[in-house]
Amino acid sequence: MNSSPIVDCGCGKSISIPTGYSHSFCSDCDSFWFPSSMESSEDAIVPQDRVTPFTCPRCSVDLEVGTIGRTEVCFCSKCRGFVIDSESLGGVIQMRRSAYRGPEDSPVPVNFNELDLHSTCPACFSTMEAHHYCGPGNIVLDTCMKCKLAWLDHGELSKITRAPGRR
Ligand SMILES: [Zn+2]
Ligand SMILES: [Zn+2]
Ligand SMILES: [Zn+2]
Repeated sequence: MNSSPIVDCGCGKSISIPTGYSHSFCSDCDSFWFPSSMESSEDAIVPQDRVTPFTCPRCSVDLEVGTIGRTEVCFCSKCRGFVIDSESLGGVIQMRRSAYRGPEDSPVPVNFNELDLHSTCPACFSTMEAHHYCGPGNIVLDTCMKCKLAWLDHGELSKITRAPGRR
């Protein structure tokens, strides 16, 4: 069995990392704990030091510009989720999956609870549609049809990358 590792948040509180996650949340200081910097964390988004007019659907802070390969995304420096235009997402997934040489995750069931979590579009503030991503990884994506944007929580891109299947 996996026991949850305990880490020191930095604010003095000890927090546990939930099974299946590489990061955690500290309710004492209302911040996320990550094992590494933005750039070297699992989704490997490179920050470009520019703030966007968009707002994080989870934390209500301004999103910043980052890049995954040549694709620009807007990420949240607090929760490390990011928004990407839906048309670029397929290419990013393909690039990451074909470059990945590490171990594959065992298949995971869809977390249907996530379908009830309705986020606000960072661009137009309408409610995003949560739907099951029908590719590897069984994740739930939030998309805005109007803006053609998709929101991925931290680690979801990595889950898609590590999922078994054709590369
Ligand atoms: Zn804390
Ligand atoms: Zn956020
Ligand atoms: Zn929108």
